[in-house]
Amino acid sequence: MENAATRLAQVETNIARMCIPSRRKPEDITLIAVSKTHPAERIEPLLEAGHRVFGENRVQEAQDKWPALRERYPDTELHLIGQLQSNKADDAVAMFDCIHALDRASLLKALAKAMDKAGKRVPCFVQVNIGDEAQKGGCPIAELPEFLAKVRDADIPIAGLMCLPPADIEPAPFFALLYKLAADNALSGLSMGMSGDYETAVQLGATHVRVGTALFGARH
Ligand SMILES: *Cc1c(COP(=O)(O)O)cnc(C)c1O
Repeated sequence: MENAATRLAQVETNIARMCIPSRRKPEDITLIAVSKTHPAERIEPLLEAGHRVFGENRVQEAQDKWPALRERYPDTELHLIGQLQSNKADDAVAMFDCIHALDRASLLKALAKAMDKAGKRVPCFVQVNIGDEAQKGGCPIAELPEFLAKVRDADIPIAGLMCLPPADIEPAPFFALLYKLAADNALSGLSMGMSGDYETAVQLGATHVRVGTALFGARH
């Protein structure tokens, strides 16, 4: 019998198992349950099972779904995992506890302004274009040190680095590269790994895995 709670337990077990060879502690890895496209009634069983960290990729969708859920589960932590448009920076800062796709100077400016206005600093992962793909967001690897300096200058707390490796090839070398880039830049947070590859990501140092399908089933 498969329900949200048993899937959650399964994913947590898998994460714990992958911690053994690298001698890491399961509690040092944050499982972000990616609830995008799923309605509140699909999310609630996970909240009832005690899970409190969720990810959405659209500001508007989060605004529609989460205020009511958060009223009942006020200790919920919400992560924005998708691309963010600068004109949504105010809403994103108001709604989310962490932002995973800071990747360009224009967005940096908009987020810094939004955080000043709100009197709130929201930790951000800097997204790296790890496979050098033209169609994907993310800071180019060569520009990373310079961009990180700009983020620090803007007084935005850096949670770490985030990546989405190219589809349909072995992700491990990209995860290893992100780990190295984080170490080179004295950062410890690593947001990497989704349903298909979170176990690999944990072995290679992920501190945050973003898992949707393995917890909620397929998106329609
Ligand atoms: C949708 C999404 C995920 C989760 O993907 P699954 O394969 O369903 O686990 C993770 N990260 C980002 C950025 C996403 O947009």
